[in-house]
Formats: sequence, structure tokens, C-alpha cells
Amino acid sequence: MTDKDQNRDEITLKGIPASPGIAIGPAYVFHKDGPVVLERSINEQDVEQELKKLTSALAHAGKELEKIVEFAEKQLGSRQAKIFEAQLMILDDSVLFDSIRKRVRKELKNVEFIVREEIGKYHTLMQASKDEYTRERANDVEDVQNRILRNLQEQRLVSKIEGSHIIVSKNLAAADALVLSRNDVLGYVTEIGGATSHMVLLARALNIPAIVGLHNISTMIHKDDVIVFDGYNGTLVINPSAETRKKFEEKREEHREFEGHLTALRDLPAETLDGHRVQLSANVELEEELGFVKRQGADGIGLYRSETLLLGKEVFPAEEEQFKHYKNIAEGAFPKHVIIRTFDIGGDKLMAQAVKENNPFLGWRGIRVMLDMPNIFLHQLRAILRASAKKNISIMFPMVSHLKEVRKAKELLEVAKSQLAERKIPFDPDIQVGIMIEVPAAAVIADDLAREVSFLSIGTNDLIQYLLAVDRGNEIVSDLFQEFHPAVIRFLRRIIERGKSENVWVGMCGEMAGDPLATMLLLGLGLDEFSVVPHVLPEIKKIIRSVHYSEAKHLAEKVLTMETEDEIESYMKEVMKLKFPDIPLE
Ligand code: PEP
Ligand code: MG
Repeated sequence: MTDKDQNRDEITLKGIPASPGIAIGPAYVFHKDGPVVLERSINEQDVEQELKKLTSALAHAGKELEKIVEFAEKQLGSRQAKIFEAQLMILDDSVLFDSIRKRVRKELKNVEFIVREEIGKYHTLMQASKDEYTRERANDVEDVQNRILRNLQEQRLVSKIEGSHIIVSKNLAAADALVLSRNDVLGYVTEIGGATSHMVLLARALNIPAIVGLHNISTMIHKDDVIVFDGYNGTLVINPSAETRKKFEEKREEHREFEGHLTALRDLPAETLDGHRVQLSANVELEEELGFVKRQGADGIGLYRSETLLLGKEVFPAEEEQFKHYKNIAEGAFPKHVIIRTFDIGGDKLMAQAVKENNPFLGWRGIRVMLDMPNIFLHQLRAILRASAKKNISIMFPMVSHLKEVRKAKELLEVAKSQLAERKIPFDPDIQVGIMIEVPAAAVIADDLAREVSFLSIGTNDLIQYLLAVDRGNEIVSDLFQEFHPAVIRFLRRIIERGKSENVWVGMCGEMAGDPLATMLLLGLGLDEFSVVPHVLPEIKKIIRSVHYSEAKHLAEKVLTMETEDEIESYMKEVMKLKFPDIPLE
């Protein structure tokens, strides 16, 4: 450490943990201001020259992206490279560039200005979306736009950095993260970005720690300032004291050791010490996550949120397009199993049509929407069926509250099957059907519903909000969203028992399944399948493999007699501290 670092006060900041790991080292502030574009009038005789510039900039941008795709394929495999192929497709969008050319001719304005306006329109729309995923994809569109503008201005981008550094930037596109990773990158820190951005997925795939959402960080840090950060909990310290630095170094060592143990668990089953086996699967939103999910040692995919295919689209994707996606997921996971959930739209998720509802969470959501649009539903059901030919897909219906909804959805599935059979298209005729238990009414009639299906998967994110009347996205009441509320625990017990009494397996794909504090309890309540966010999977496996089923059952019985959330939570914390002192709890 230099004198300069010792003389400055340390500053501790909190961001969003995005990719696990501890990073310690000097900062490199990566400035990525968008190119400055001014509006300029041109003469009619300069139009062709202006359009030539565009053709050449598109060719250069295309070459740059092709190199990035090639590099991504080598480093990460073809699945991750798809992110950049999508950017290449924007360059091939003839409708977009024809309209840009037309405008240059008609308005006699410089091409850079028109490019920024035209692509900027999409970017602004996507950025204004209520949906986090669409906002994240806006970065990709902006990245292509800036790449074209930079080439129009014949500027080059910095990509070589001497020495090991933590990259700090206002915003990093996935391509930046990838290109910079050719240097010795210790970590990524950005001001903007959520936990599902492509840059974050890449950082995880590359095993590089990352924190996002640290406002103003790029103006607070100067080149070569020493920083340390914790990608598990989002803490970052600028100019750490010798003592703080030592703490982070120790933590890095502990985590390396711990991760070493967890990696060793990868191929082992999620089985208790006394031989009780459960399924430990992953929740997936994007195809790009499949590599990471495999490396984490998942038994399969317990929830594929198919509605992510609708993001940024104004119309439902055609059967063929959907089929390709589902096939990629099924092949990527093969021979492991994938549960594809049919479009769960409405609520706080994107809507197919602009519908104004006073209470969208109590409105047109999930299966209700799809049953009201049987043709669109049939497209999706046929696409899923077609991808099921290798028999590793199940179908799951979200937001069920009535028995008749399940029956109707199954009827439509039969229609889809006979349409495919008529066309002699192969599919799995015995494809399993399950439903999500997210609405209290469905929990109450869980046994009746179970008789119609092969499995139940508990969606605690919605079930808790409906059971406790607490909007899952409302910060004002967020402390009332309690997974350890006795009503929740007793409800879970009821669903699991009712499902099992009808001989169907009962899983959970809500966030609670991935909370290490809840693992022993859920195991003891008899849950058969845990489907969790991929990064917590090894920890949950470790807990399951370190306890006896009998002791988990005993713990669950005890918890079921407790009267308050506080009592349950502190008891769980006590047990965890005693048994798993090395597992970090929130
Ligand atoms: C849930 O509600 O718990 C769930 C997994 O579905 P989503 O979070 O997609 O609503
Ligand atoms: Mg839900």
C-alpha cells in the first residue's frame, strides 16, 4: 500500500451484490461516456458521402462484434456468445437502417444525429419500461448504438490495461466486460445495472466478482485508488485501512476454502445424512444462465420463466421462435429435466396489451390471461410440446386459483397434442403437468388440484403476498413480508401434506427455497424439490447434506408450535449459527 492510501480516510459503500467473490486491488476508472453527437445540416451533394460513412461504420462495428462473438465462444461457449449475436442482428436490421438512410436524404441532417435519434428511440422506450429485464436489455441496444457512432466518428475504444485492476465504471456493457476481461481484471464495479444484466451474467460466467448499483462511484474513485469489495454482500471500501484490508484478505481466503468445499459437492446428490434425497434445481430466466447452472451442480431446472421471451416485444413470439428457445433450453439441460412455466404475465410483469387495472396483482395475471387467449396459449403449448421430444420437459401453469382453470388448461394441452399428432410432429405424449401454488385458495384446495396434475410447486413470492396481504414490491410494508410468519409455515405444511396425500411431489420455486435460513425447516416439512437462484445452490446442498432428515422433521414440528415470526426466525438463526457458522446469513 502507498503512503497516499494510508493518508486518506476509508469510505464504506453498499451496492447490489452481483457476482460472488472478494476483490482487492487498485481501481481502473473506465470512462465510457457516449460519443458526443451534434445536429448538423448537410448539403444535398454530401448525402451519398454521408451514407457511405454509415455503410463503412456498420461494417466496422460488425467486424468488432464478430471478434467479440469469437472471443466469447472460446472463453464461455456458444450459449454466452448469443448475447453478442443479438447485437449483430441489430446491425442487420434493414428496416431500421433503411429508415435512417431515408431520413438523412429527406431531412439533410448528419447521419450520426439520425442514428442516435432512431436507435435512441428504442433505447428510451426500453429504459422507461417498468420491467427490470427490459431496462437491462436497453444497455445492449445503447452499446450497439455507441459502437456505430464511435465508428462513424472513427474513434477507438480503450481495451488494454496494464497490470491487475478492479474496473470501476458508470455502466458496463456485456461487450466491455468481456473485452476488458482479456486483461487481469480482479472485479467489476458499476453505478448502473441490476442483478440480471448481461454484464452481470458474464461476470458470473467468467468467475469475476462484481457489484452494481453503486451510485456516483466512478466520480468518487481515482485511478489506482485501492479498493476492496465483497461480491457476496455488496460492501465496498475505498482506501481501506491496513486492518480492513486484512479482514477482506482473510474473508477471501475463507471463501476460497469454502468454495473449494462447495465445488466438491457439485456432483453429489442433495441427500441428508440418513439417506433422504430431494431434488435441488435452479430457477432460470435466460438461456445464457445454463452454463452457470450446470457448474453449480443443479439437478435440473425447476422453473424456467418463459415470459422473459416476451420482453421488448410488442406481439407474442410465433410458435417457431418459441420452439427454438425451448429446444435450446431442453438441449442445454439434457439429460436433466426442465420445468417450463407458461407465460406468467400481468401483475408487475409486462403485459401483452395495455390494460389499466387498479389492482393488477389481483387482476388479469398468469393462467387467467392465457385462458382468455386460447390461440396464443396453443402456440406456446405446441412450442413446448415440440421441444419435449426428448422427454426432459414438464409444463407448469402459474397463478392458479380454481380447479376449472387447471382442467381448461389441460384440455387445451390435449388440443395442442392432437394438432401436432395430426401434423406428425414428434413430442412427449406423457409430458408431465404441474401447477404453481401461489394463491391462498389454491393452497386450501391443494388436494383437489393435486388430483389433476403430477406436481405442485409453491411460489412463495406470490403466496406470501396474497396470504399476508403485503404487496411484494412495496417498500413501505416490506418488513411485513415475512416468510417465517406462522401462517406461512402452517400453510406450507398443509400444501405439502395435501399434495403428498394425493401422491404428487411438492416443490418450491419461490425465493424462500433459496434462503439458507429456511432450508432445514422446508426439508423437515417434507418438501421434495427446492428450485433456487443458481448462486445459492451449493450452499443449500451443503446444508441438506449435513443434516439428518429426522432432525429436520423434529425442527419443523417445533417451529409449527411457535406463535410469532420473531420466535421462529431467531430459533432458526440459533440453529444455523451452531451448525453452520461459516454460512453467511442475511
Ligand atoms: C413465486 O411467485 O414465488 C414465483 C416463483 O413466481 P414469480 O416470482 O415469477 O412470480
Ligand atoms: Mg409468482
